[in-house]
Amino acid sequence: MTEKQSSTQPPVIEIKNLHKSYGDLEVLKGVDISAKRGDVVSLIGSSGSGKSTLLRCANLLEDSQSGEILFEGEPIRWKGTGLNRRPADRAQVTRIRTNLSMVFQQFNLWAHMTILQNVMEAPVTVLGEDKAEVETRARALLAKVGIGDKCDVYPAQMSGGQQQRAAIARALAMQPKALLFDEPTSALDPELEQEVVKVIKDLAAEGRTMIIVTHDMRLANDVSDHVVFLHKGLIEEEGPPEAVFNTPKSERLQQFLSATV
Ligand code: ADP
Ligand code: MG
Repeated sequence: MTEKQSSTQPPVIEIKNLHKSYGDLEVLKGVDISAKRGDVVSLIGSSGSGKSTLLRCANLLEDSQSGEILFEGEPIRWKGTGLNRRPADRAQVTRIRTNLSMVFQQFNLWAHMTILQNVMEAPVTVLGEDKAEVETRARALLAKVGIGDKCDVYPAQMSGGQQQRAAIARALAMQPKALLFDEPTSALDPELEQEVVKVIKDLAAEGRTMIIVTHDMRLANDVSDHVVFLHKGLIEEEGPPEAVFNTPKSERLQQFLSATV
């Protein structure tokens, strides 16, 4: 997991010229983004710029109208075109979705399940893995994110920071090739935010492949190999964090950064 992928291997996830509309509203207007193994890519931009939509298109929670999505070099197969375009192969969709695990702003834990059950659910029911093996892995992951003592607790009994760490453990339990984070710290109070930031930094240091939508410019600066600034459905500027944060070229990016820090 720690060594970077050699340049001959395809990226874990690659998106080319993606277009996405909701009815008449064109939200993504030809976006390219990719993450090689071990890459941390941060996606920044104003509210409404299309960041969540891009992540949701990447793991096929949303349909897109044109452009390519490749997982480890394998293109998604589509049927239909334009507003009727859909993935053609359900098995491929399941495989890709389980390999691109998503962590949401609002945690999205199942309220009626304990934390351990939340983490075990998908590997057991979606992947059909052995329950005892999954339980061992789930307990280890909960310990890793610092809530090993919360296995038998329900989500409502935990703080937001603990719930989000449980959601990260749940995503990791799928043993995905990449993690997709959608504003993982935005719903948290500042002191709880840091618990989650620490977990994300640990994952970056382990060499995990991640795409992180975040409003936290310090986090983006600290963990990213590459930062992408999305503006109204187009990439306005991108590059290594030093360049994007210290010497932004685009006026819109300069404005965005001065408004956020
Ligand atoms: P961001 O995550 O950058 O704040 P979003 O991807 O959530 O942006 O939204 C981009 C645009 O798409 C916004 O104008 C938003 O109102 C619109 N949008 C998002 N989801 C839907 C939806 N399900 N139906 C219609 N419009 C949507
Ligand atoms: Mg969003």
